[in-house]
Amino acid sequence: MPVPAAYEPAGTTYVRRRRSRFTVRHWAMRHSRSLETLYRVFAGTLLHLHPVWKAIGYGRAEKSMVPVERAFKSFMFDCRMCGQCVLTSTGMACPMNCPKGLRNGPCGGVRADGHCEIEPEMPCVWVEAWKGSRTMVQGDLINVVQKPVDHSLRGTSSWLRVTSQAAAEREAVDKP
Ligand code: SF4
Repeated sequence: MPVPAAYEPAGTTYVRRRRSRFTVRHWAMRHSRSLETLYRVFAGTLLHLHPVWKAIGYGRAEKSMVPVERAFKSFMFDCRMCGQCVLTSTGMACPMNCPKGLRNGPCGGVRADGHCEIEPEMPCVWVEAWKGSRTMVQGDLINVVQKPVDHSLRGTSSWLRVTSQAAAEREAVDKP
């Protein structure tokens, strides 16, 4: 039986994004396990360099880190620099690309072909997230409920935030 077309409200418009973005995003989702491993190594290296960041000052280091993080993650994941990255919990699919900004799973409007109801050319980020998470070592992190987005962190470096938090936790454990 043919699948009925999704209901389209009259007179609505949606943001058209470049298809090329979806291609790279889709590649990232398909290689989520390798990217997860790479990120773990990268995060370990950043943590190893904690004394350097501390000497420079995290605030100053961030000024140099933000453009690098933005360039890399924008290309790979269409990152919106929310400053509280959850890629490793969402199958390497950035939830900030959901036009409704949903951080905890899809809305009820996913089309029959797995695309977004607002941007029909775009695969639903949560369909991609679920697929990506299934190949990851810690893929079940997708079930952890995410906190609401803290917009005061927008434009800051998630990489350095995670590093400073991990360093603080490590120091707390090492304290006698
Ligand atoms: S979750 Fe935030 S920091 Fe991570 S890729 Fe998406 S917008 Fe960028």
